[in-house]
Amino acid sequence: MINVIQGDITTLPVDAIVNAANQVMLGGGGVDGAIHRAAGKELFNACLKVPEVRPGVRCPTGEARITPGFKLPAEFVVHTVGPVYRDGQHGEPEKLANCYRNSLALAAESGCKSVAFPCISTGVYGYPIEDAAKIAVREVREFLSRAETPRRGDAAMEVVFCCFSSGDKAIYEQLLKD
Ligand code: ADP
Repeated sequence: MINVIQGDITTLPVDAIVNAANQVMLGGGGVDGAIHRAAGKELFNACLKVPEVRPGVRCPTGEARITPGFKLPAEFVVHTVGPVYRDGQHGEPEKLANCYRNSLALAAESGCKSVAFPCISTGVYGYPIEDAAKIAVREVREFLSRAETPRRGDAAMEVVFCCFSSGDKAIYEQLLKD
């Protein structure tokens, strides 16, 4: 099931919220800063413990890492790093698609049944929202359609697109009508 809401992702009582992090994973502006503030210092410490794959890089672009949510209502934070948008001709669509795929796979592996995404890469990283939302909707639909048929009594995964603006929400709602 897919839902779209407008609001602050740090308040959502879901199993996992996804963070639009950066490669070093130690906090930043935008949704990343909001998540770190709401989760508390323990989130920073948990991120510090994520091993670097090379100096200054804990999570390469398109990949995902998981930590507890600490003071958040969400049990987990899935940290993923979206591409910085240049012109769409530098692998940005594939990298953004990987964020959604890898985040969903990691959340599912950890037993999450509800996952909320912000509009990854569409803030400081400059990805045009219409293009980014198309990729997000396509990848989530693809993941949900491929997911194993739930066992009896098991709920299928719920994915929430948590938009910060009403304009972004309208774009997702339009795409989900098609
Ligand atoms: P990026 O660096 O990946 O572009 P940003 O944090 O700059 O990430 O922006 C990603 C999206 O998150 C933007 O649409 C921004 O408006 C939104 N955003 C910022 N704060 C929050 C929040 N507390 N909850 C949900 N979305 C948020």
